[in-house]
Amino acid sequence: MRPTQIYYEPNIEQYTLGKELKEKFSDIPWIPIENHNNIEELRSKENSEFRNLKQLLIIGTRKTHKYVENHKVSDYLVPYTSSGCTAMCLYCYLVCNYNKCSYLRLFVNREQMMDRLIRYSTRSDRELTFEIGSNSDLILENEVTGNLPWTIDNFTKCKKGSITFPSKFSMVDPLLPLNHQGRVIFRMSVNPEEVIRNIELGTSSLDKRIEAINKMAEAGYKVGILVAPVIMVDNWKAIYSQLFDRLEAELSEKMKKQMFIEVIFMTYSFVHRKINAEAFPESIELFDQEKMTGRGMGKYCYRNTLRSEGEIFIHDELERRFGPGRILYIC
Ligand code: SF4
Repeated sequence: MRPTQIYYEPNIEQYTLGKELKEKFSDIPWIPIENHNNIEELRSKENSEFRNLKQLLIIGTRKTHKYVENHKVSDYLVPYTSSGCTAMCLYCYLVCNYNKCSYLRLFVNREQMMDRLIRYSTRSDRELTFEIGSNSDLILENEVTGNLPWTIDNFTKCKKGSITFPSKFSMVDPLLPLNHQGRVIFRMSVNPEEVIRNIELGTSSLDKRIEAINKMAEAGYKVGILVAPVIMVDNWKAIYSQLFDRLEAELSEKMKKQMFIEVIFMTYSFVHRKINAEAFPESIELFDQEKMTGRGMGKYCYRNTLRSEGEIFIHDELERRFGPGRILYIC
């Protein structure tokens, strides 16, 4: 990824990663800012400039480090080395938090975040799992920072706990030779190819994602599949069945033996509609009043009857191919 411009907090140069990034992108314009959370000139841009905003890189330090309890694959959601992303999934959950400023932000004080993570993990009286990728896509971020090998090497020096992160990207090769000790849980998000092409703009293809899953399983990582988000477009049953056929045919035996599955249905919002209409006027309209509840300025989700039908369908289709007990949750 080559950003068009970099906005940065000047103190990043006190950090090793900050210095490295300054060097790596020395040919790109750098614009100093006071605080990565509030860049007025970017906040005031039109929604139609969303694509251009996504080509920026923002670099600063993370100031808030509050862990939030979680009860799915992990015990805690951990704010880590980035937020936002360069891709443009039309439903991206980060748009709810950051609006059109959901561009990639990097936080260079990774040593501080890692120290805290290790302290949390070692002082617990049980093995904890930490979700470190809930605010961004760490496989994508790794292309810019190289943070994932650094993270895995450092986290596994403490002998307790696990880390996990999801991705829609396939660039896993730098992770394959690492000594992860079986304490890293990788979760690949999948969707039918036409959903990826038309809705998950700028992410890896299904072919590449399947290849990456098999590589990670082969390298001994714990690997899960995230069917997320399920999007109930007109032919949803047919395309999700085809997706599961492909997974059944193309995932390696090693992967299929150990895999777990999470299923998440899409939620959407007024903010998404507004940005998408102005930034991607040609794109598919994901809001469907017949199918969704919620109106006005709020969030939208699938109506209960449709949603129940979807849950049963996805559950049965997955169980038929991959056996019982694989699905951790459907939400
Ligand atoms: Fe958002 Fe993830 Fe898509 Fe990036 S890859 S735009 S973080 S949903």
